[in-house]
Formats: sequence, structure tokens, C-alpha cells
Amino acid sequence: MSLDNSPRYSGGCQCGRVRFHVEGALGDASVCHCRMCQKASGNFYQPLVSVRDARVTWSRDEPKRFQSSNHARRGFCGECGTPLTYEAPDGMALAIAAFDDPSLIVPVIQWGVEAKLPYVDTIPALPGEDTMADQDAAGFLATLVSYQHPDYDTDRWPAEDRT
Ligand SMILES: [Zn+2]
Ligand SMILES: [Zn+2]
Repeated sequence: MSLDNSPRYSGGCQCGRVRFHVEGALGDASVCHCRMCQKASGNFYQPLVSVRDARVTWSRDEPKRFQSSNHARRGFCGECGTPLTYEAPDGMALAIAAFDDPSLIVPVIQWGVEAKLPYVDTIPALPGEDTMADQDAAGFLATLVSYQHPDYDTDRWPAEDRT
């Protein structure tokens, strides 16, 4: 929350070239199982939140857009490819997991359930393990350094030269 009580949110792509700031109330949060959203997100379904009634600003760079149908465009980072937007004539929605704190944005409806992949509902019943429980990957994980942008705004990015 800001001083004027207008909710504010931020987020961006994994490389940090595209960052967004949202001021105002978010609309309904959803997941969409339709085949177009599967392809656009590279995932089983696409979680999106409407920002139709909020003010969205971009910093560093705007997303690139792919015209995915005659009615809608899909925005993504031109550098790293992170899916970021769904833009239709009635407004824009942002990818929930691209927000710095996606835990705040709870989906309230599923769309496109006719295209839901048959195993999606069985995933919560699968065995679950911590990342560090994979002993074969222990050495890999112990030396892993993330080059993804952190979940907050930065003045300078990349923070250091990696070449
Ligand atoms: Zn990026
Ligand atoms: Zn969809």
C-alpha cells in the first residue's frame, strides 16, 4: 500500500529487462486451460490477473508482443522470453507468477476447462520432495548462482558483469 492507500504491485521478467508497476486494484485472478494459453505460457495452464482498472507502467523496457489471434496479443520479454501479458480489446492481464509476490494474487476461477490436460488434477497427489532432497543434484545445487532478477526493483541490473 502507498501513502494514498492505492495498492501497488511490481514484478517483471526473469532477466530484469522488463519490469512492471501496477497502481490500483487488481481484477479477478484466474487460470486458463485453453490451448492458446497453454502454448503462450509453455505450461499446463496460464495464471493471469486482470489489470484493466489499474495503472500499469513499464520500466527499462516494454514487452515485445505476439499477435496470437485477431483479437489478442501476448507480451513477453524480448530478451529472456518470460511470458508477461495477455492483451485483449477489453483490457490487459498480467502473468501472476511474474509478480514479485505472486502469493498475494489468489485465482478465483478457471477458464477453458474443456482443454484441461487430463493429469493436471492429479499433480497435487504426486509424491513431493524438497529441492535439496535430490542427492544426485546436491553438488550442482550447492554451487548454483541465480542470474534471475530478484523480486524487487533494482537501480542497476545486471548487478555485476558476468562475462
Ligand atoms: Zn527478460
Ligand atoms: Zn486461455
